[in-house]
Order: sequence, then structure tokens, then C-alpha cells
Amino acid sequence: MNTQQSEYVLKLEKVCRQFGTEPAVHALVDVDLRVKRGEWVAVTGPSGAGKSTLLNVIGCLDRPTSGKYWFEGIDTASLNDNERAGLRSRHIGFIFQSFHLLPHRSVLENVMLAEVYRKQSVQGRRERALEAIKKVGLAHRADFLPTKLSGGEKQRVAIARALVGSPSLLLCDEPTGNLDSKSTGDILDLFEDLNALGYTIVVVTHEEDVAKRASRRVHIIDGKLTEVANGKTTPRKSSDVASIKGNGKVSRSGVTLRDLLDEAIAGMFARPGRMALTMLGIVIGITALVATLGLSRTAGNQILGQFDELAATEIVITGKAGPNGADPHAIPWDAPARLRRLNGVVAAGTLSGVDIGNALVSASLVKDPKSQTNFNLSVQAASPGLFKAVRADVLTGRVFDDGNSQRADRVAVLGPGAAQKLGIVSVQQLPAIAIGDKLYLVIGILRDVKRQPDLLGSVIIPEGTARQDFRLAGPGAVVVETKIGAASLIAKQTPLALRPDNPGALKIAAPQEPQRVKDAVKSDLNVMFLLLGGLSLIVGAIGIGNITLVSVIERTGEIGLRRSIGATRWHIASQFLLESTSLGIIGGILGAGLGVLIVVAVSAVQVWTPVLDPSAPFLAPAVGGIIGLLSGTYPAMRAARLEPVEAFRN
Ligand code: ADP
Ligand code: MG
Repeated sequence: MNTQQSEYVLKLEKVCRQFGTEPAVHALVDVDLRVKRGEWVAVTGPSGAGKSTLLNVIGCLDRPTSGKYWFEGIDTASLNDNERAGLRSRHIGFIFQSFHLLPHRSVLENVMLAEVYRKQSVQGRRERALEAIKKVGLAHRADFLPTKLSGGEKQRVAIARALVGSPSLLLCDEPTGNLDSKSTGDILDLFEDLNALGYTIVVVTHEEDVAKRASRRVHIIDGKLTEVANGKTTPRKSSDVASIKGNGKVSRSGVTLRDLLDEAIAGMFARPGRMALTMLGIVIGITALVATLGLSRTAGNQILGQFDELAATEIVITGKAGPNGADPHAIPWDAPARLRRLNGVVAAGTLSGVDIGNALVSASLVKDPKSQTNFNLSVQAASPGLFKAVRADVLTGRVFDDGNSQRADRVAVLGPGAAQKLGIVSVQQLPAIAIGDKLYLVIGILRDVKRQPDLLGSVIIPEGTARQDFRLAGPGAVVVETKIGAASLIAKQTPLALRPDNPGALKIAAPQEPQRVKDAVKSDLNVMFLLLGGLSLIVGAIGIGNITLVSVIERTGEIGLRRSIGATRWHIASQFLLESTSLGIIGGILGAGLGVLIVVAVSAVQVWTPVLDPSAPFLAPAVGGIIGLLSGTYPAMRAARLEPVEAFRN
């Protein structure tokens, strides 16, 4: 470091700034200016002379068209935008004619803003801001909103914000332009105090009173700068005010995620009513989507639930009824064997009602002659496979087998109802029953059957026995148990498997295909709701985009201010993007909550079990966030492109 670096805070050599080309406006022409540490320089000149342009160049908000500018000995031409932003955030304090305070934040929060783009933790920020507020004599107003303050007080808040972190230079553009003479005097007194503390001050003004108080005066006309003698003493010695340390290394500006989030949230909640309306489209859209999907799932589950496994795995085959009743020969005797060869058949058995004429059934070993012993019970003939096909549960003894049927053994299995009537509880003593005049040995008693409940009250005898004893002409029905999902295919194959000669002779009762149940749930109404939800989301996206754009235009001054305190274009863009994305996320969360509530409420009314997609609570905010991000992109780009110089001109 050479001595010059510490002596001059800023040094301009032949700086020119030209706007446009035809015709070119020469706002600054060959400006030479050196400001020593601790000086208080007033820049005067008529309107349009180039004062603000000079201030913007000095503040690194604008670059000269030609010439050289050193800030604290650093050639500013060598700095990139990020480093220039870092310079503004740490070493330059801006004070504007129109204060540029954020209206929805307290005095303290406005002053704390000074540190947001220094990428440092929030620790001690409050205390540093309070100290700066105390310096300008506003400690009693720290929690006020700027709208409650007088013009002079507002400007003191702006000065406090500029003081946080002890900058090398205070740059003031017409700081008393909006103030009455009393407030102007107060502010000038404050400048004097700050100057006495060692702050270097450059004040642009067209007021003679303000210029007179400075330690030095320069005058601009048509972009040309000249020194004006005002007979003041040389600058004071520098004191506690910082200067850039190290070998001209400039820290870049930056912002922590936490600060960025805080700023975005504060920006959103500045207008809560508008925020709510902006989110409405997303909320309605997500609600419609979550509710529609949830309800169709819930309803679908309901139908599938009723559609139980027992019914879904049962086929019953009978002969088709003709003009003279069902054809007794429609089903071949070996139907169960043929069916068992089909893929997916678990069990198959025939079941036929046996015509026993007027015969009654009686238990043969009844001790009490007075009790009623003869019953009008139904007798059914079955092939052995039937017991498995109806999922019979044996209470005692056993069911008959193929051998019993082939030999036409006179054996019987009793349904629990029939056994109770006949007074038979066990097969240990080899009980027998009489059907008409023929005796049958009871070999088993059933506890229950899952299908064909008629069997519960029946006497069941082997098919072969029924053919011999009662001239059974053919099986009345075949009951088939299939694997889950196989029923419909087996039902299709059955007619050809049993009656290749005349498939039409059979009537097949098979369960409805599950696929068709699902399709039935996807009703037209659901499609309409989904479309409506999608449409709402589009409207919501347009709403967020539109409102973000409006707020970018409204907050032009704020954007300019943020740039002056060290924000880069990217920081500005990310803040608006984060605001629109957060709106989308909050909308998504609210929508998901509402949608779930609707599903639960409808389920409660319908006595359904609500079925919710477990990913909905995560997906909905994500969808909302993406919509917010996309719709905020264009406004954020607009905000990023905004030149701070332009922002302050308005
Ligand atoms: P002052 O602050 O002294 O009133 P300015 O520095 O704002 O003057 O402007 C100096 C001259 O440069 C004016 O003629 C103004 O119209 C012109 N000027 C400033 N900024 C721009 C710009 N961005 N584009 C075109 N002309 C500009
Ligand atoms: Mg100006």
C-alpha cells in the first residue's frame, strides 16, 4: 500500500459519462476530483448539471464512460459487479432525497437491512443497528413504522442505515431536498457531528445553506467540475472510521439463505391481503386435485372392498334352462376332473339336489320313541371335490372320497343343521340314518361351509350312491374355486372344456372382472374435476406472475435501495423468485390440507375409510412451489435488469 491510498478516499481523473449517442448527453466531462479522508464536500450545480451522475459513479452504481476512478486506492475499473456491490455494502453509505425506507418495516428493521448483503450472521446485528439509531438520536423511535415519522426523522433513519458498519464514505443526494428548514438544520448538525467523528461526506445539493456548512465546495455545470473557495479549514484527522485493509482486496457482496428467506417472507407479508388473494388460484387448484384423486381412490377402495375374495374366486356352472326346465344331462359326470386340468382351478365338485320323493329322513338309533324322529330334510349329492370347493369345515369324522362314490357306498355327511335335527353329535358310535327305507352310515358332520349355505341343513351323500339309489340323471351344478384373478379366464374356457359339442348348453356364473370395477370409478365427473383443478393452477400461476410483476414495478425504489446497499442483480432476482415460490408452496400446503379435509369429511358422511396418497402432502407443496417459481421468473428478471440509477430517478 502506498500513502495515497490512506489519504484519499476517492480519486477521479478525467472521468467522463456519456448517455446515448444521437444526440449524446455528456453528463460528466473530464472530471478531476480528489477527496481526502475526513473531508465534507458539497457538490452544487443547477438541475441537470450532472450531480447525480457523479454521485452514482462515485458510489459504484454506474461506471464512467472513460477516465479513471480509484476508491480507497483501488482502481474500480478492475472490479467485477459483485465486488462493486461488496464495496457499496461495506464501505459506502447512501442517503437519498426520498429516504427510501421500506414502509412495512420498523425503524430498527430498516436500519438492520444495511447488513443483509454482507453475508454475515445476524448475531449482533440488532445491537449494531440500535447503536446507529442512537447516533442519530432516534432510540425512542426504534420500533416505529416509518409512516409514523416526520420527514427529518425519516432522513435520520436513512442516515443510521448508512452508518452501520462505519463506511469510508457517506454519499448524499439532496438529503434535505424534502425537508423543512428546521429539519434541514438538524440533519446538517448531524452531518457536522459525523464529520467530526471522522466520516468522509459528499453531499449533492442546490441549497446554498447546505453547501455553506461543508468543509469544501465544488460546482458542476454541464458536466464540468470546478473548485469553489469557501474559506474553510483543512479536513480533520481521521479517527475510528474504517478504511479498506489488505492489498486492495475487495470482499464481494453476498447474502445468507436465512437473510434471503427473511427478506422474501417480509416482502410477502407486507401485504397479507394481497398475498392471500394471490395464492387463491393455487389453493383452489391443489384442493381440487387432492380432493378428486383422494375421493376417487377412497370410493374405488370401497367398491373393491365389497368385492370380496370369496366371491371373486367362485364359479358356479349349471345347465341352461330350456323350455322344459334345465337339461339334466347338460353337465358331464366328469366335469370336476376336466375343470381341474384348467390352469388356476383350485377345487371343483358337483352338487345336485336328490329327489327322494316323499321319503323322510330319520336317525336309526333313537332311544326315545315319543320324540319326533322323521324329518323332511333335503338330500344333496356331491362329488368329493365339492367339500373343498365350498370350503367346508369338518366338525367331526371325515368327508367321503372317490372310492366311496365309485363303490356307491351308503355313507352320508351331515350339515350342522341336519345333524342337530337328527340328534347326532358324534360319529364314534357309527350312527346311521334312514332315507326312506335305505340305511346310510354317517361318517362326518360339518361345522360350516363358506359357499352354498343350503348344505348346512342337508344330508350329503356321494354322487355315485345317488345315481344308484335315486337314479340321479346328471350333476345339477359344478362349484369351482379358482385362484384370485383367474375366475374370468376360467369362466371363458369352461363351456369348451365341458361341452365342446354344445358350449351354449351351460350357464356360467362368474365374478365381475376387477378391471371393470376400477374403470367404473374413473367417472367423467372425476375427469372434470381434474381439468378444473388444472385450470385453477394455470389461473393461479398467472395470478402469481401478475402480482409479482406489479410488486416489482411498485417496489422500484426498494430495488434501487437494495442495489445501493450491496445487492447484486442476482440477489434481487432471487428475492422475487423466493417470494413467488414461497407463495406457491404455501398455496400448495393449504390446498393439500383442504383437499385432505374434504376427503375425510366426505368419507365420514359416507361411512367410508378415507384412502389418501401418502405422497400428496409432499407433492402438493412441490407442485405449488414449481408453479410459483415458473410464474415468478419473468418478473424476477425484470427486477434484476432494473438499473438502480433509473430506480432513483423516479
Ligand atoms: P442532476 O442530478 O445534476 O440534476 P443528472 O446527473 O441527473 O443531473 O443528469 C445529468 C444529465 O444527464 C441530464 O441532462 C440528464 O438528462 C442526463 N442523464 C442522466 N441519466 C441519464 C440516462 N440514464 N440516460 C440518458 N440521459 C441521462
Ligand atoms: Mg439529481
